[in-house]
Amino acid sequence: MNKEKLGRIIFIAVFAVLVFLWGINIRNSEETHVTGFYMDTYIDCTLFGKVPDGLSEEIGSTLEMLDDLFNVNKKDSDVSRINNGAGEFVEVSQHTSYLVSEAKRIGELSGRALDITIYPVVKAWGFTTGENRVPGPQELSALVKTVDVSRIEVDEAGSRVKIPEGFMIDLGAVAKGYAGDMIKEILEECGVNRAIINLGGNIVCVGSKSMGRKWQIGIQSPYEDRDIPGYVQVKDQAVVTSGLYERFFEENGVKYGHIMNPYTGYPVDNGISSVTIISKDGLYADALSTAIFVGGEELAEELRKSLNFEYVIFCGDGKVKTSEDAGYSYIVK
Ligand code: ADP
Ligand code: MG
Repeated sequence: MNKEKLGRIIFIAVFAVLVFLWGINIRNSEETHVTGFYMDTYIDCTLFGKVPDGLSEEIGSTLEMLDDLFNVNKKDSDVSRINNGAGEFVEVSQHTSYLVSEAKRIGELSGRALDITIYPVVKAWGFTTGENRVPGPQELSALVKTVDVSRIEVDEAGSRVKIPEGFMIDLGAVAKGYAGDMIKEILEECGVNRAIINLGGNIVCVGSKSMGRKWQIGIQSPYEDRDIPGYVQVKDQAVVTSGLYERFFEENGVKYGHIMNPYTGYPVDNGISSVTIISKDGLYADALSTAIFVGGEELAEELRKSLNFEYVIFCGDGKVKTSEDAGYSYIVK
């Protein structure tokens, strides 16, 4: 074989390999979207690579199932049955008892900054009905007497939950975190190991971007501009933000937000505009974003002694406070 011919063969072989690899790459970067409106939130999953048939339906039916269990406004949900059966043990699904016991644990660990028995207060402010009002100080001081997460009981077998008479629970602060983790599990079980799940701002990153690179998740500004001032770089982690801008109402020029101080019954007003938590565990990220919105940087540092997470806190004065590692992964645009 002459040199020229050999060269041509090598060239064709290399070319064929490149085309083959390019083909694999295209197939791997194939992007599928699963969208829907469940649990009162818009969900958008971006899946990369091959997606099995029926996955979209499975995600939808899982979220519907969770909504049937956790929705405080559904008459027969586990949460409504716990609330209506206050004073007695109520039989619930394993999903509910697990979520309630984890919320209780983080509630106690956070000194009740997170307190899922806050519902009577949230209801009084009209956040569940949309008919917002400012309750009087006496009404609120009476209501906070029925707020104490440590008084929730989950039986040993994890199948029954009891709250004291006059108490009511609401899983609004933790349900999306749990749902995100469940979707991640479904994806991994059927071989989808690269995806971004966006559950109304609760982001769960599955795996890493192509070639093991980190995802860049934008953090929305909590201020009027709604800009994306920066982003965090993560791999296989959840990024959850609780902010003042999400749900609030205004009366006589005062803004009232939807995250409450469980001790006073008033919306949190501590100068924090938003809290973003980065954690392997989506449920923790959701629970902690609410807890740290209430308890601030001091609570965040305290909780970091026993829990594994990073934080980015936007303060009202424009300052941004981060935990040590998030200081590296948070990039200002
Ligand atoms: P969102 O679900 O709007 O993203 P959060 O995860 O921070 O925001 O949860 C806020 C919801 O949790 C409120 O709408 C309310 O139902 C409930 N909530 C408010 N304050 C507290 C609190 N201190 N602890 C637990 N739940 C709370
Ligand atoms: Mg939350």
